[in-house]
Amino acid sequence: MDLNFTTEEEAFRSEVRAFLADKLPVRLSEKVRGGKILEKADMQEWHAILNARGWLANHWPEQYGGPGWTAVEKFIFEHECALAFAPRIVPFGVNMLGPVLIKYGNETQKSYWLPRILDGADWWCQGYSEPGAGSDLAAVKTSAVRGIDAQGDHYIVNGQKTWTTLGQHANMIFCLVRTNREAKKQEGISFLLIDMTSPGVEVRPIITLDGEHEVNEVFFSDVRVPAENLVGEENKGWTCAKFLLTYERTNIAGVGFSVAALEQLKGIAATQTKNGKPLADDPAFAARLARVEIDLENMKTTNLRVIAAVAGGGVPGAESSMLKIRGTEIRQEISSLARRAMGVYGRPFIAEALKDGYTGETFGPGYASAAASRYFNNRKLSIFGGSNEIQKNIISKMILGL
Ligand SMILES: Cc1cc2nc3c(=O)[nH]c(=O)nc-3n(C[C@H](O)[C@H](O)[C@H](O)COP(=O)(O)OP(=O)(O)OC[C@H]3O[C@@H](n4cnc5c(N)ncnc54)[C@H](O)[C@@H]3O)c2cc1C
Repeated sequence: MDLNFTTEEEAFRSEVRAFLADKLPVRLSEKVRGGKILEKADMQEWHAILNARGWLANHWPEQYGGPGWTAVEKFIFEHECALAFAPRIVPFGVNMLGPVLIKYGNETQKSYWLPRILDGADWWCQGYSEPGAGSDLAAVKTSAVRGIDAQGDHYIVNGQKTWTTLGQHANMIFCLVRTNREAKKQEGISFLLIDMTSPGVEVRPIITLDGEHEVNEVFFSDVRVPAENLVGEENKGWTCAKFLLTYERTNIAGVGFSVAALEQLKGIAATQTKNGKPLADDPAFAARLARVEIDLENMKTTNLRVIAAVAGGGVPGAESSMLKIRGTEIRQEISSLARRAMGVYGRPFIAEALKDGYTGETFGPGYASAAASRYFNNRKLSIFGGSNEIQKNIISKMILGL
């Protein structure tokens, strides 16, 4: 296993940097750098720029519009995008549903839905969790009952999803629904694509600790869904669900985000003072900073090891859980240190300061206004995509056989 980048990979890195310098709008990178909230139009704009270059669906095979990158090239791309403060790729269509359709969808589904993910015709959200079905995801109760009438083969869906990220922007939701109540719980689940503009779908906001409207509840009351929107076989949706979660977890680890956030943190620590000296020279703070930097270096190496294994034909399994746990702990620690480093400036939480056009007090360096909000927002990282406790259960089962 060679963890050094080859000459070709370094040339690829230069190509990505040149692209970002040329095409990433400064307006967008400044928003990301300052921790501002991205509007739907911002995310769509960045998706369109990447799609025009053929780089949006970088995990997809070339035949469906992927760029044909190696795992290492994907890693470099994500890293460079984070360092340039590019908006993140919204994962639900491109990184989650896309791979599921490619693996489990039929040809009609692939040829209809995949291009619409690429050109932004559809905005997808993820309908997995329900009240009472989070960690125990296989306990989903939202029901889909099949029937045939004059308008054709269909399902009638009733139930509730929760924590649906960016569902307020979505016109489509992929859902785990219960199609058999008699079978063992994992064997009665199906993977269904639902049009959110259908009669009977209602989206209600949930406001999180950081004052933001990022997540929602979605209610289904007698929603009619064409049977052709079933992905894979009926009652075999658990297989799709697990496959998708592996992608989701590796994505959440976000090594690139941590590298960029650590650079910002070091900048703050160099300018903020404590007892007349730069904070970076304070032994207690410097020790925490060094600890998280070492952890991040280790994490990068682990990530590259996983990538090397995948490039050699392996499939990420328990490794994606390991990456999720360590990656999110590191991201949370950096956001915690950033808030501390701001001292009194990191304390005030001004929701409006995260919106475009805010001209009020920013409490010191521009980043300060976002420090408290980022801290609050990043608490989610150890919960979603399967909580870190659940990841530990997975590791103990898969690696230790417990
Ligand atoms: C900001 C945010 C965005 C989200 N976005 C989405 C989304 O877009 N779509 C979607 O479908 N879901 C989404 N989720 C839901 C997320 O996946 C769940 O919150 C998560 O799986 C935990 O489930 P729960 O909230 O029901 O908590 P619970 O399952 O009730 O867990 C509560 C606590 O108990 C612990 N626990 C539970 N069972 C065990 C066990 N067996 N062993 C050890 N500890 C255990 C958990 O670790 C946790 O600390 C999001 C969540 C958040 C916070």
